[in-house]
Amino acid sequence: MSLIGAYDPDNIFAKILRGEIPAVKVFEDADVLAFMDVFPQSKGHTLVISKTSQARNLLEVAPAELQTLILGVQRVAKAVEAALKPDGLIITQFNGAPAGQTVFHLHFHIIPRYDGVEIAGHGRAGMADAEVLRPLAAQIGASIS
Ligand code: AMP
Repeated sequence: MSLIGAYDPDNIFAKILRGEIPAVKVFEDADVLAFMDVFPQSKGHTLVISKTSQARNLLEVAPAELQTLILGVQRVAKAVEAALKPDGLIITQFNGAPAGQTVFHLHFHIIPRYDGVEIAGHGRAGMADAEVLRPLAAQIGASIS
């Protein structure tokens, strides 16, 4: 999938936004939705997406929507830190398939890092049980301020 192209309204995250497939939600407001990555690279791996933008990547997003999205990312990242007390946080996103992007609805990853704990890497983690993700989502959601 190239950097340039049309938004697919049937991508997984669009379906999550429409409630057509489930997600373990952490937080949402009018602009952003945060939910647990179902293939978490570490405990607390959270994704943040825009609810209003149909940008596939960072290059396409309108400045006002990027602004609300990145502020949402910061808000959720602070909650991840408060809830899980990681030693570090990776905040990243990928643009285009050759860069590693697999879902073509702009999103940011918040990946907690814990001293001495290796992570599998992008696209290499196993699927998590929703029963494991739900309490983490509740913990992070309760720390949103
Ligand atoms: P990227 O590869 O940067 O496009 O990131 C897409 C992310 O979405 C990956 O980390 C996947 O593990 C994650 N993912 C894919 N499907 C789902 C889903 N149904 N619910 C939650 N996360 C998902």
